Amino acid sequence: MATYARQDVSFVQGEGAWLEDDRGQRYLDALGGIAVCGLGHAHPAVAEAVARQARTLVHTSNLYRIPLQEALGERLCRASDMERVFFANSGAEANEAALKLARLHGHRRGIRRPRIVVMEEAFHGRTLMTLSATGSAKARAGFEPLVDGFVRVPWNDVAALEALADEPDIVAVLVEPIQGEGGVRIPDTGYLSAIRELCDRQGWLMLCDEIQTGVGRTGYWLASEHDNIRPDVVSLAKALGNGVPIGACLARGEAAEVLGPGTHGSTFGGNPLACAASHAVLNVIEREQLIQRAGQLGARLREGLHDRLSGHPAGVTEIRGRGLMLAVEMNTPCAELVSHALNGGLLINVTAGNVIRLLPPLTLTDDEAEQLIERLDAALRAWHHVNAEEQA
Ligand SMILES: *Cc1c(COP(=O)(O)O)cnc(C)c1O
Repeated sequence: MATYARQDVSFVQGEGAWLEDDRGQRYLDALGGIAVCGLGHAHPAVAEAVARQARTLVHTSNLYRIPLQEALGERLCRASDMERVFFANSGAEANEAALKLARLHGHRRGIRRPRIVVMEEAFHGRTLMTLSATGSAKARAGFEPLVDGFVRVPWNDVAALEALADEPDIVAVLVEPIQGEGGVRIPDTGYLSAIRELCDRQGWLMLCDEIQTGVGRTGYWLASEHDNIRPDVVSLAKALGNGVPIGACLARGEAAEVLGPGTHGSTFGGNPLACAASHAVLNVIEREQLIQRAGQLGARLREGLHDRLSGHPAGVTEIRGRGLMLAVEMNTPCAELVSHALNGGLLINVTAGNVIRLLPPLTLTDDEAEQLIERLDAALRAWHHVNAEEQA
């Protein structure tokens, strides 16, 4: 079904930050399959782990113990300062678990119609419940009746949240520490800690959607670490398997004890194949210190983009980001930039209409970072040239 407006290009193989199409053209991938391929394409350690596990044991179901899953759960809890994990196969499913958990938590406290606070411009997935939590009215349109029980407030607005303090039946706040699809929006310092304090004061759960920001992308294992806060529930997916589908909903404290036998489940979730891939991802991240690398290279790349692109005739208004989650904001809608970049051998994404989003692999070399800047500059010039001609 035509659920995506696709670019007319077919990639047939990849290596690191590079993809090759069916005509032998090479592209520098500054999108990484939408924040998924943190280790780049066809990483040998992941390929080897998946191949070995496929020859050993792919799936048994969650009716039996899965040692690789238990060990992965322990690693993720240690990295995230959490206590328990539910394994799923995608981001939407990880959030779905977080939202169900919050509702059940409410019911156990005698709240019959629990409500969850969500943000404008948020993106949480495409299943009916995660879509209902998503901010975009356009994405929600046509799927009514949506799942109710959400209260939507403006993003990055502490006062709007404080105004909800006396509302009955609220059980949780769901927030992305940096809005990804919403345009790589970084909240003001203090916003996330204000949510944390409000949740503590009201007895609400703080749910952090770290599906795009987690697994080292922003220079910390979790982006919420930038603000020194510890959520009650964290959802992860995207980069967790470097392309092998896996999602995880992590929880601590009371939240960790909510879901029990019969309350939730997944046939595939946390199967040996997906867990083997994820172990390999974590091994490489640790061995090559890629989280520190994301922080350092990200800062340098941001600086390089700034030097090269600020004051650009194409109309660059802001360059921002954390680690290797970067954005170049334009003063006009710029969706056509994607095909100009593609023609110049660069894969980028435009989100929120006028925000160029860069999510390159954490393994990007210094030289590739330079090439990224070069190619982006060239794409901006080509796009600007066409626009100028159209106006003339
Ligand atoms: C991608 C994303 C999701 C949805 O993940 P899927 O794997 O596509 O279901 C949810 N939340 C955020 C913040 C995301 O970036």
